[in-house]
Amino acid sequence: MERVFNFSAGPSMLPEEVLKKAAAEMLCYEDSGMSVMEMSHRSPVYEKIIADAEAKLRQLMQIPDNYKVLFLQGGASTQFAAVPLNLLPENGKADYILSGQFSTKAYKEAQKYGDVACAASTKEENFARVPTASELKFRDGIDYVHMCFNNTIYGTKFPYIPETEATLVADMSSCIISEPVDVSKFGLIYAGAQKNMAPAGLTVVIVREDLLGKARDITPAMLDYKLMADNDSMYNTPPCYCIYVAKLVYEWILDMGGLEVMKARNEKKAKLLYDYLDSQDYYIAPVAKDSRSMMNVTFITGDAELDKKFASEASAAGLKNLKGHRSVGGMRASIYNAMPYEGVEKLVAFMAEFAKNNPKK
Ligand SMILES: *Cc1c(COP(=O)(O)O)cnc(C)c1O
Repeated sequence: MERVFNFSAGPSMLPEEVLKKAAAEMLCYEDSGMSVMEMSHRSPVYEKIIADAEAKLRQLMQIPDNYKVLFLQGGASTQFAAVPLNLLPENGKADYILSGQFSTKAYKEAQKYGDVACAASTKEENFARVPTASELKFRDGIDYVHMCFNNTIYGTKFPYIPETEATLVADMSSCIISEPVDVSKFGLIYAGAQKNMAPAGLTVVIVREDLLGKARDITPAMLDYKLMADNDSMYNTPPCYCIYVAKLVYEWILDMGGLEVMKARNEKKAKLLYDYLDSQDYYIAPVAKDSRSMMNVTFITGDAELDKKFASEASAAGLKNLKGHRSVGGMRASIYNAMPYEGVEKLVAFMAEFAKNNPKK
């Protein structure tokens, strides 16, 4: 069967070139005589893979030298607990910006560990936009601010980086390496890999060195950033194969010219879809224009039955996983790095055809 265009929010498409390279190396990696899946993580050949993965990510994101890169497990959701357990002292304070479901989960998890408040929320507006800079209310003396940069479920993204003297922590699961970002503005960035980097099972944490070593006594060893950093992400067995695929993905982007080129490609894809949405009135794009995500594009017909029909007919046409998140309904096209322009062209053509064939009552 031919490969489809997979608009899944995650796990999601990987670049075909990367899949082919991984396939070619599946049985025997270089001259090791074995698959990367079968290697000891302590072997020199694997040590080079993980060191290369880190070096390539550093190059790609221009990560300053005073930041550690950690390759962990547990998904972004484990970071919801790891962040307060490492950065929030017993009598400390942290403020959370609530811009969707994941930031709300992070907030609720952090509340188990101390004085954690909401700095702004757009819940009343169904998270159809992110809070503006002037709506953010940070308390004095906070240890950190937490935000989710791109809200995968709603299709929103912060068009700005919040200004704060406190440490800024960002969940970038669904936008990391989609465009350049000034890492130095953040104390900590984390991302589950399955949206834009690798198969599920890997979580990348980028953390400024001065934030290490402050974990609470009760922090599980596996969540202690310093312990992980001191052991080069090898305190225990890391998600070896995922890290290898991530390395191939970083190389794929570096080979095409880096994150500026990636950004231009992503902007072009998102523009095609948003321009179409703005040019007609059959589909409604619920997100405020200045909060639009470049990675996850949400739209509805306004009729739940038609939405359902859309997703199923699109699927039959080889455009998969366009159904919106179960909590919001409608449609969502996730157009991460690996989605080719051609996939979005096909989607727009399908949308126009569907609108013509299914007039609203
Ligand atoms: C998918 C996602 C998560 C949850 O990731 P897991 O790896 O499943 O824990 C958290 N935050 C954002 C922004 C996401 O897109």
